Amino acid sequence: MRKKKKRVKRTRLKNLSYKKIIVLLVAILLIFIIYNVITQKTSSIAKISNIIEQTNYGKITRYIVYGTHLNIEGNIEIHEQNKIEKVQVVAKSISGNELIIDTEYDYSNNLLSFSTLDQINTELNLEELDVTDYYILLKIQFLDNDVKYYSLLNDTEYGNIDYYTLTRNGRNNKIHINFGSYKEIPFLGLNITKVNKLPEDVYDMVIDPGHGGSDSGAINGKHKESDIVLDYAIDLKNKLEDIGLKVLLTRDGSESEDDDMVYNIYDEDGRVTLANESKAKVILSLHLNSNEVEITEGGVEIYACPNSDLTFAKLLATNIVNIADTKYSQMETYKEAEGVYVRTIEIDRNRTSSFTRNYKGIFDSIPYLFITRETGGIATGAYVDGTNPNYGENKYRNSNVGLEGYLIELGYINSDEDLYNILENESSYVEAICTSIDTFYKITDD
Ligand SMILES: [Zn+2]
Repeated sequence: MRKKKKRVKRTRLKNLSYKKIIVLLVAILLIFIIYNVITQKTSSIAKISNIIEQTNYGKITRYIVYGTHLNIEGNIEIHEQNKIEKVQVVAKSISGNELIIDTEYDYSNNLLSFSTLDQINTELNLEELDVTDYYILLKIQFLDNDVKYYSLLNDTEYGNIDYYTLTRNGRNNKIHINFGSYKEIPFLGLNITKVNKLPEDVYDMVIDPGHGGSDSGAINGKHKESDIVLDYAIDLKNKLEDIGLKVLLTRDGSESEDDDMVYNIYDEDGRVTLANESKAKVILSLHLNSNEVEITEGGVEIYACPNSDLTFAKLLATNIVNIADTKYSQMETYKEAEGVYVRTIEIDRNRTSSFTRNYKGIFDSIPYLFITRETGGIATGAYVDGTNPNYGENKYRNSNVGLEGYLIELGYINSDEDLYNILENESSYVEAICTSIDTFYKITDD
């Protein structure tokens, strides 16, 4: 009995000291972690601060993440106009790597303006950055071969952005795009870390089956566009999930017949809102074309946004034609390449009459073309601002983060040849789209 008592006492004592030690260790660990978090950013900018000019810096006046790319515009005061040979925006990593971003510039009255934004979907590809810290700097090469790096101050209304790269092999990088300052030098930094899983509300891609609810889209006999593209969207979502992507559908067929999917796109659960909230990089909207006059042709049309590089659009068109054994549309209006079209649909903001209030011409005949523009934020010129209460208001119209959008007209529903192929050959069309995404965004090859 005695012995037992003693043992119990000793164990208690032991427990007590174990607890103390654990508490102490946890406290030390926490202090260590907090210290590291605080000093990490400082030490990372400190590593390259020695190459940055200390007495002058530029200003960023426009800053956009569209799809998978970052672009900026800005200016800097420079009083050595005649001596400038070359101006480039660069992403400089702390390990010394330098990614050069194609930059246009202009000089007048001692002010050098620069922009990487000639195309909204090219230049700094966020998918291809190493897991390290980068700083966005202005690099000016002078005629005497002197090279100077200038830091950049955020002179926009926009703040930091957390960008997640597309899922590859179940993994993503998180890119914390952040503005800060170090010893009074402002900077734009990209802090890149690996994450094992996307946050629950973050997606890679959005697939938008056109129309839906009370809007059937185009019809041929018993065949409705809204039903066919929904089938396609579900099939495509499954195929993209097979290669590891996280995909959101803007509708899944569970909406009621009365839901007005055209006019509620800006509601809380409307398709523009859903797409923008998904933080996805790309949106593909699926449609079938139709033509009021009797047609003999048919074929595929891919609609891309203005001011964008068309490589992916061309790849989509070519793959669909080849793999699904169909053809390019023969329509010539808005055509940029075989099967690739760019159509700007804008209202003239200077016309404040009923024309503007009613968004005349942009909703009446071609409502579907809005999805790619309205989900792209300022990059694509989203502008449905609630002027006409019938259409709601796009809360994301001023966002500097937008989805790269493509609208795919798979074929003409009123061409019997196209309709037959679309109904019989669905897996080939879907394979063509999935392959295009896999190839262009380098999802499965590593
Ligand atoms: Zn349609």
